[in-house]
Amino acid sequence: MLGPPGAGKGTQASKMAVALGVPHVSTGDMVREEIKAQTDLGEAIKKFSDKGVLVPNDIIIRLLAKRLRKPDCRKGFILDGFPRTIQQAESLDGISKIDLAVNLKVPDEIIIQRLSNRLTCRKCGSIYNRLTLKPRRANICDKCNGELYQREDDKPEVIQERLNVYRKNTEPLIECYKRRSFLKDVQCDDLMTPPEVTFKKIKSITDSARKDKARA
Ligand code: ADP
Repeated sequence: MLGPPGAGKGTQASKMAVALGVPHVSTGDMVREEIKAQTDLGEAIKKFSDKGVLVPNDIIIRLLAKRLRKPDCRKGFILDGFPRTIQQAESLDGISKIDLAVNLKVPDEIIIQRLSNRLTCRKCGSIYNRLTLKPRRANICDKCNGELYQREDDKPEVIQERLNVYRKNTEPLIECYKRRSFLKDVQCDDLMTPPEVTFKKIKSITDSARKDKARA
């Protein structure tokens, strides 16, 4: 699942994972879990993630490779937040085979509105939005009753930096995937479009990719 920060990759990837019965593998979640666990690695990566810049490739690739070796990934997985650079894509080619890349295309002004209103559950990582996806009770997760908070990197001063990082590192990768022709664009240019509408578009893309694969 590709796209700028705040495009809805996490929301869509978790729905997709349920629909396909495979795990949702989010490097952003892995980074946050590591930081929460206060491991040495967590301490080392916090300074990157709080600023909205990329965690060094060797660290993130090591974390991802370890996750993909777990038995639940054997029949497939949805990647969210990885690869983010051409170098990461090359490493991924050495670890596993990717069938399809879905690219969520969202204009900057929507991203800024979305991220600055995003709330994340401290306990289970579920995502909410003060404007578009309100929790039933203010600041409490519908799923696990955990506390909702604003991520350090969802603060306005960090959002612009994340967009810059995306333009510089991830857009070239998208061009590269386009040339390999397994990338499908999904346009999302309305702030109020419910996630279900985008999900239907993604589902129809994955359904036809599966049919093509079965035929081949
Ligand atoms: P976003 O909403 O910006 O897509 P994520 O939750 O995917 O945010 O990632 C949060 C932070 O974790 C990133 O800003 C970065 O510091 C780190 N991170 C996540 N995935 C990667 C990756 N593939 N390579 C390097 N750093 C990453």
